[in-house]
Amino acid sequence: MAEGEEPGAVAAEPRSAVLKPFHFERHVTYYSRNMQMLPGFMASLDTNRATLVFFCVSGLDLIHAPLQAEQRQHVIDWLYSLQVIPSSSEGVGGFRGSSHIGNPFCPDNGGSAPVCAYDGGHLAMTYTALALLGVLKADLSRIQRPALLRMLRAHQVASGSFVSNLGGGEEDMRFLYCACTVATMIKGLDHVDAASATAFVQRCITHEGGIAQEPGLEAHAGSTYCAVASLAMLGTLDEALADGRRERLIEWLLQRQETGFNGRPNKLVDTCYSFWVGGSLAILGALQMADQEQLFAYLHSTESDMGGFAKHPGGYPDPLHAYMGLAGVALWDTDQTKALNPCMCDQQLGSVQESDVLALGA
Ligand SMILES: [Zn+2]
Repeated sequence: MAEGEEPGAVAAEPRSAVLKPFHFERHVTYYSRNMQMLPGFMASLDTNRATLVFFCVSGLDLIHAPLQAEQRQHVIDWLYSLQVIPSSSEGVGGFRGSSHIGNPFCPDNGGSAPVCAYDGGHLAMTYTALALLGVLKADLSRIQRPALLRMLRAHQVASGSFVSNLGGGEEDMRFLYCACTVATMIKGLDHVDAASATAFVQRCITHEGGIAQEPGLEAHAGSTYCAVASLAMLGTLDEALADGRRERLIEWLLQRQETGFNGRPNKLVDTCYSFWVGGSLAILGALQMADQEQLFAYLHSTESDMGGFAKHPGGYPDPLHAYMGLAGVALWDTDQTKALNPCMCDQQLGSVQESDVLALGA
C-alpha cells in the first residue's frame, strides 16, 4: 500500500482504459461505400449532396483515412463546379448543393453563372462546400470571396437571422449558424450584423434555459448548438449568456443525458445529439460535466456492424448519424480520432489561415 493511501483503497483504473475502442476500420468502409452509392430512398436528398459528401469526407478525415489523390482532386473540382458565379459585379455568390438544376460542369472557371431565376447559392451548401475544401486542403484561389461577402449581407434578414436562399427560403437559427461558419472561414465576420444576430439568439432563449430555432418555439438541442456556436464565432457568447443564462443553459444541456443524449424533454435518446449537446457543452467549457462512459456505452450500442452509427440501437446507419456519432466521439480527448473544432464540426482550426486568405479569389 502506498504511503498515505487509505486502507483497502483500490487504485482507480485510468479513465481511458474503461472505454473500449470503436470499430473505426468498419466506418472507413461505410463512408467509402457512401462516396460511390447511396440507398435509393436518399435520392430525394440530391439537392443536399454537398452535405452528404461532407459527412463522408470529413468522417474519413477524422479517423485518419483521407481520400486518395485522384479522388480528392475529383471532389475539389466537383465542389468548384457548384459555385455560383454572379452575372454582374454586384451579384451574390455561394454554392449549390448539386447540379440538380442543370448548371454546367465548369470547375476551372470556379463555377458557373445562374442558369435560371431559381439557381443561386444556399447557405448550408456553402458552409459544407467551404468546410470540405478546407478538410481537403484545396487551393482556395477559385473561391469568389467578394461574391460570398455579398451573400452574407444579402441573406441577413431584419430579425437578425439569415435566410437559406434568396427568393423565399427558410429563416431560422440553422442558417444563422451557417452564415457564421462561412463568415469565419472567409474572414468575413465584419459582414455580419453581430448585434442584430445576437439579439435574435437572445429572443430564442426559452423559459427552460435552452434555445429554440425561432422565437416562441420549444428549446431544441440542435438549434441550441447552432446558437451557442454562432455566438462563440461572433464573439458575443459571454454577453448573450450573462445574468445566469449560461448556467441555466448548461443545466438544460446536462439534463439531456440519459445514457446518450436526447434533443429535448420526453424524447428518445438519439446518436446525433452526442454532437449537438456535446458540442454545445464543449463550447461552454462544460463537456467534462457529462458522463463520457454512459455516452460511449450508448454509442457502442448504435455502432453498426457494417460501419457508421445508427440513430437508435439496432437501426441502420445513415450518413448524418454516422458522422454526428463520430463527431460526438471526437469531442472527447480520444486517441482514435483527430481533434474536432466544436464550432465548425470538423477538424479545421475554425478558419483558413492568414496565408490561405491571401490565396482566396479576389
Ligand atoms: Zn438524430
